[in-house]
Amino acid sequence: MPEKNLKHFAVIGLGVFGSYLVEYLSQLGVEVLGIDIDEKKVDSVKQYLKLPIVCDATDRKQLEDAGINPNDIDVAIVAIGESVEASIYTTLLLKDLGIKKIIARALNTQHAKILAKIGVDKVVFPEANTAEHLARTLVSPHIIEEFELSEEYSISEIVAPKEFYKKSLQELGIRTKYKVMVIGIKRKIPIVSEDTGETDLKDEVLLVPEPDETIIEGDVLIVAGKKEDIEKMRKI
Ligand code: ATP
Repeated sequence: MPEKNLKHFAVIGLGVFGSYLVEYLSQLGVEVLGIDIDEKKVDSVKQYLKLPIVCDATDRKQLEDAGINPNDIDVAIVAIGESVEASIYTTLLLKDLGIKKIIARALNTQHAKILAKIGVDKVVFPEANTAEHLARTLVSPHIIEEFELSEEYSISEIVAPKEFYKKSLQELGIRTKYKVMVIGIKRKIPIVSEDTGETDLKDEVLLVPEPDETIIEGDVLIVAGKKEDIEKMRKI
């Protein structure tokens, strides 16, 4: 099991999503308990698991025997995709077993609503989220990356619009005008290679920029604020 300061994770359902999840968690140095009803699925990711377990997660006894209890598991992720029924039933059992934090993957909005009603801590909707992100970046190429802080707030990268060039943050009054905060500026700076003498562009991130920092062409603003306000700023 992981060190004391790390949380103990269980991933239930090792399909495509669950497999990537355990792989990334293991890359981050987290030890994971992985469960699937299908032995082959467990086998295919066992190198990423501290504890590989083949069991039916809709069976209370089997879950208990697998070590799913609040003393050993802090966070359980229900990644079962193929059966909404199995996902809901497993989630209910995890609640009943007293797992403190439950994250469940939804397949559709109906499924998401039911999971939210059961009281899971977070519903993830990978297919819908990826599709939404792709649609947004196709329609709004100004937003490069977005990091969701909560349902209301996010941190986004926005390519500085032409209107901002050669003006300082203070002059632009972004915080007052758009109600978002510029927490960083990504800027390409020219560097000269010591070996070849050639000039290249390197990304530099200016965190917490001073009010007198002047925006130049090509800058990417890292802004934090309400999604709707960021959206308004994007439309400049
Ligand atoms: P997609 O194929 O849409 O990307 P996915 O591959 O992540 O999704 P599924 O193929 O639906 O998801 O896989 C869900 C996993 O959950 C499967 O490996 C399946 O064996 C497992 N599973 C289904 N029911 C149970 C259950 N009752 N207990 C444990 N594991 C289960």
